Amino acid sequence: MQTERMRSGRIARVGSVHARSLSERPQGRAAMATCIRAVFLDRDGVINVNRADYVKSWEEFEFLPGTLDAIARLTSAGLSLFVVTNQAVVNRGMVSQQLVEWINGRMQHVVEKSGGRITAVAYCPHRSEEACKCRKPQPGLLVELARQHSVDLANAVVIGDGVSDIEAGQAAGCSTILVMTGRGRDQLALADASGKDGFAVAADLAAAAEFVLRRTLANAG
Ligand SMILES: [Mg+2]
Ligand SMILES: [Zn+2]
Repeated sequence: MQTERMRSGRIARVGSVHARSLSERPQGRAAMATCIRAVFLDRDGVINVNRADYVKSWEEFEFLPGTLDAIARLTSAGLSLFVVTNQAVVNRGMVSQQLVEWINGRMQHVVEKSGGRITAVAYCPHRSEEACKCRKPQPGLLVELARQHSVDLANAVVIGDGVSDIEAGQAAGCSTILVMTGRGRDQLALADASGKDGFAVAADLAAAAEFVLRRTLANAG
């Protein structure tokens, strides 16, 4: 297992990605598995523009720059892609389950037209008060998708713009990357304030994808 050894709490540059040391983490787990086979993407703030008032229609679903290309490159490299997204908007009664699924389906369709493939989308409809097992930071969505699609979570990476994405990924035993799109910058400040570590930081999904691919290709037998 390769780890980037750095001073605790500091961020060091690795290309366009800041990789954080893992050596100080209680679990002693590496920040990034050397060979990634599957990618779990958060949706809002990673693939599309995050809206404080939620995505409530396809018109409000706006792909972030470089996203479709990054997904196509990960797909071409043979990685399996999944989307895991909290959609409390459903149980808040603002958007129906059918509409969320339809929006996700259109997203998958546009991705496929751009040469990418998202194998499956899983979402949590619950509000945080419902204390379910699937709302991130719980790892339920990741664990269930992994079971359904025979994904080895140790060779998977979670890419998200929230601390809850990082926590869900770490709880599932995945590598994790926090992107600076969406809520990313605020969430990184939050993570730093609470001393969270053990995740990589990338400017956006394109940079995260490049990091994953470079690392995976470099370590492929
Ligand atoms: Mg998000
Ligand atoms: Zn849930």
